[in-house]
Amino acid sequence: IADGGSGTGHKDNKTHLGREKADRATRDQVLDKRTEAIIEHMVRKELISELQGVISTGKEANVYAAPLYTYDDETGTQTGTHYRAAKIYKTSILSFVDRERYITGEHRFRNGGHKGNNRKMVKKWAEKEFRNLQRLNRAGLACPYPIQLKANVLLMEFLGDGQGHAYPRLRDVELEGVDDNDIAQQWRQLYIQLLGLVRRLYHVCRLVHADLSEYNILYHEHVLYLIDVSQSVGHDHPQTFDFLRMDLHNIGAFFRRKGVDTLRDRTVFEFVTS
Ligand code: ADP
Ligand code: MN
Repeated sequence: IADGGSGTGHKDNKTHLGREKADRATRDQVLDKRTEAIIEHMVRKELISELQGVISTGKEANVYAAPLYTYDDETGTQTGTHYRAAKIYKTSILSFVDRERYITGEHRFRNGGHKGNNRKMVKKWAEKEFRNLQRLNRAGLACPYPIQLKANVLLMEFLGDGQGHAYPRLRDVELEGVDDNDIAQQWRQLYIQLLGLVRRLYHVCRLVHADLSEYNILYHEHVLYLIDVSQSVGHDHPQTFDFLRMDLHNIGAFFRRKGVDTLRDRTVFEFVTS
């Protein structure tokens, strides 16, 4: 793991996971030996060149910017950097027990037999997020493109600029406009855009996000991107409607705080499901 700011130089000198750095990461309970091996494999396969600075440290996962450097074949000098995002699910976290309820009743994962085995369980969540991202992508919804999944490591498209800075979460967005009215209009449009996204997620992907809030939506140039879909549930889940109501409630509360004259919960629910 590089501390960031690296990414120049010669191919032969590029930073792999050094012993010392890997040990530190292991101490931080992020990379255990197996996870470390997966990262090294992704480096060897040239899916990424290294793990760079951590974008987010969450309860269940950390997200890293993972650059892939390109080199000139002749001279070996670096010609460019292409960023990817690596979401590494933590294998030593108890809060996953909590998430059992999301799995229960969902036949896609009913036969996992993962209960009591943390590593297997974490793998299930990563798998679920990967598959859900595939579903969103096939439906043409704005979200990261899933690139590869290996055990608890999910490699996906990086939603950010060319320098490795992730797009802001909707929570942190400050819209610019010519006046207050213009800004209010933009917030309203984002609200409508999001309701459309949730509706397509429901009808085309046949999924409910189940953890939707201003924290799990990224924003860039008037476009909203859905992320963090590991807990999203299908229509066959007994609590689908409960999760949907909760999602819509969160969204409504956020946009109301932004001054949007939001629709009533019932109206929104009917719009999404009808
Ligand atoms: P968690 O389960 O920890 O909430 P998320 O999937 O929500 O994990 O990711 C945490 C944060 O990492 C997000 O809020 C976002 O800032 C960043 N992030 C996640 N995926 C990407 C991505 N594909 N591109 C850029 N940033 C991302
Ligand atoms: Mn999240």
